Amino acid sequence: MKYKNVLIKFSGEAFGDKGKPVNKRQVKLIASEIKELVKAKVKVAIVCGGGNVSRWKDVKKGDRVEVDLKGMKGGLKNVIPLEKALKEMKVKVQVFTSFSLNTKYPKFNYSKVTKALKENKVVIFVSGTGHPFFTHDTAACLRALETNAEVLIKATKVDGIYSADPTLNKRAKRIKSISYKSIIAKELKIIDSVAVALAQENKLPIRIIKWQEGNLIKLIKGKNLGSIIK
Ligand code: UDP
Repeated sequence: MKYKNVLIKFSGEAFGDKGKPVNKRQVKLIASEIKELVKAKVKVAIVCGGGNVSRWKDVKKGDRVEVDLKGMKGGLKNVIPLEKALKEMKVKVQVFTSFSLNTKYPKFNYSKVTKALKENKVVIFVSGTGHPFFTHDTAACLRALETNAEVLIKATKVDGIYSADPTLNKRAKRIKSISYKSIIAKELKIIDSVAVALAQENKLPIRIIKWQEGNLIKLIKGKNLGSIIK
């Protein structure tokens, strides 16, 4: 296996389909893909976004802090069914929140997280960094560093970074590898620049891949999917 210890970031949208923000079939697909990784003896930590519930960039009005809190709490709508699906598949899982959310889940605790990973549990982080004005990309980078992941995998709607918008420009080419510096300079929207800066400072590679059945396991086995930021 190319990677033994990963952090996967799923955008909130990965959980939705057919007009539903959270679609049971999508949740099951994500859970079965994670199960495959666990079977392959990969230590898996996950950050689930909440952009399918609320996202500041889509709202851009009202009280920013309130909107951001809604976006962070929104992740629970994805995590609760994901935890259930994993348990039904007999995958050991432990969820941690970033701030008190009035749920059964404990708050982030470094030694408990490390212990859970050592016990080969899938660890899911919900509610972002716990602070407004950030994003789940930044939370994912932070958690990847805290869990000593070899790579941050952003599983998203597009299959990598392109030289131009591929939906508008047929000549747009996929960039297989790009430096932290150029992604920040180009202001590409594929990933939050705060997350990239944090990754750069700590030499954490970020892999952008399309979320679709089979891609995570292909990547773990060494297929050069998507784009890498390093
Ligand atoms: N958010 C926040 N702090 C965080 C993470 C997220 O305030 O640490 C809020 C912010 O409003 C953001 C929303 O939650 O717009 C949804 O997060 P994001 O857009 O990163 O979600 P994703 O694309 O991962 O589903």
